[in-house]
Amino acid sequence: MSKKMLKFTDIGQQNPPKREIDLRKDDFKEIYDEFINEKATQQSSRCSQCGVPFCQVHCPLSNNIPDWLKLTAEGRLQEAYELSQSTNNMPEVCGRICPQDRLCEGNCVIEQSGHGTVTIGSVEKYITENAWANGWVKPIKVKNEINQTVGIIGSGPAGLACAEQLRTSGYKVTIYDRYDRPGGLLIYGIPNFKLEKFVVERRTKLLKDGGIKFVQNFEIGKDASLEDLRQKHDAILISTGVYKAREIDLPGNDLENIFPAMDFLTASNKKGLGDKVELFDNGKLNAEGKDIVVIGGGDTAMDCVRTAVRQNAKSVKCLYRRDKENMPGSSREVANAEEEGVEFVWLSALKEFKGKNKVESLSVNKIKLGEPDETGRRKPEVQKDSHFEVRSDMVIKALGFDPEDLPNLFGSKDLQVSRWGTIKTDFDTMETNLPGVFAAGDIIRGASLVVWAIKDGRDAAVSIKKFLKKKLSEEEKVA
Ligand SMILES: Cc1cc2nc3c(=O)[nH]c(=O)nc-3n(C[C@H](O)[C@H](O)[C@H](O)COP(=O)(O)OP(=O)(O)OC[C@H]3O[C@@H](n4cnc5c(N)ncnc54)[C@H](O)[C@@H]3O)c2cc1C
Ligand code: SF4
Repeated sequence: MSKKMLKFTDIGQQNPPKREIDLRKDDFKEIYDEFINEKATQQSSRCSQCGVPFCQVHCPLSNNIPDWLKLTAEGRLQEAYELSQSTNNMPEVCGRICPQDRLCEGNCVIEQSGHGTVTIGSVEKYITENAWANGWVKPIKVKNEINQTVGIIGSGPAGLACAEQLRTSGYKVTIYDRYDRPGGLLIYGIPNFKLEKFVVERRTKLLKDGGIKFVQNFEIGKDASLEDLRQKHDAILISTGVYKAREIDLPGNDLENIFPAMDFLTASNKKGLGDKVELFDNGKLNAEGKDIVVIGGGDTAMDCVRTAVRQNAKSVKCLYRRDKENMPGSSREVANAEEEGVEFVWLSALKEFKGKNKVESLSVNKIKLGEPDETGRRKPEVQKDSHFEVRSDMVIKALGFDPEDLPNLFGSKDLQVSRWGTIKTDFDTMETNLPGVFAAGDIIRGASLVVWAIKDGRDAAVSIKKFLKKKLSEEEKVA
């Protein structure tokens, strides 16, 4: 065992410092500073190099965390980067936005023994940023071009990871996306203060430089059908994510100034990228000077409240029907929102939106938590005669997302979906019921995480390669 490791009893846990609250509230920059080299090395040396690394077991990509921590502690940073990127197509993204408390870090053995987890996410980000700075991150260089093509629908993390894996093996890859920029939710969903957009643009440029073709502003179902693409390519990946916002069927829902979360976040992200956004520029989707209420308790709701703070809202409240302990959002993000001045109205369920034409206030019931339901979470129950009013002139609904009706949209009625509308996929092969059509990411799991989308994209690439090899050998036999 290297003398440089097992320092967790001597060296305390440290994350890169968070920027001052008053400063970070005024801009959209990421809130964590970078590790300096010495700190990354020190923090890596805290790893106890367990025989069974639970961090790795609980990382969806099975990242070889103990080995790249050891290499970092020894100052062998290029090797650390090579190892880290061998299982992850975007380590700098995961290092920033994985909910590490529920994945790798939450299962770190020294965390369990009360010493505080190794700060795995921050080291992962550091290793990769250092690699970019040193020019070690290079575009794909194909050794043997293969004359088979794959069409990928959707340029989110699932599509990008699959594309990279296939292109590296020599296949010709075209990614189609209905948005004007690649990246999916990495570019238009997740705000800059969690993930600055240069990080995403740098990645997609690298993939373009490696020969992957991007076709933007191209919607399958409008500009071409799924069948058109099947005729054009040897295999297809569907990685379209989930975008249908869940609705609240309550009186007043049709009043003005009530918006779905993605409209609000996309407008803000587009402004950050320098675009003209009419609904933002005319003040409609801008929280400045307004009393904002966000309904929901997940990560999307946290992104909305914190965006509203940065747009200089007069007040920002988050309305959630359970309590803090039972919130689905990451506790790290809730803490960040609280620090930035967001007021949480726990145990509150909306009863009615009120106003003449525009929303003016919300009528809300107080909730108590009852017995656990089948998922183990305690059921919210309305308290009798407990209703109260919350003033608001802009409401953002962040209640989650469902899949769009893809069989109809794609003009492929025979594409099988589950009862939730996600694409039915064989999880061993990632293949749908249509031969040569594979699927990955949120569209098979429902709203999930970037790291799972990357894992699915990589798994799909393995199966697509097998499928294409078989197809080629069958074609050669016939010829
Ligand atoms: C606000 C928000 C914050 C989040 N924060 C985090 C976080 O902090 N950490 C984390 O791990 N995860 C987070 N997530 C979840 C994460 O972003 C998703 O799980 C992940 O992006 C899913 O990847 P994907 O490739 O499956 O789909 P997406 O990223 O959704 O990409 C799908 C792409 O398909 C395109 N598309 C859809 N339909 C068509 C069509 N018909 N034709 C052509 N193109 C189409 C879309 O334009 C899009 O570019 C967040 C999600 C949201 C909404
Ligand atoms: S990809 Fe996510 S879960 Fe895996 S090591 Fe990195 S931060 Fe942890």
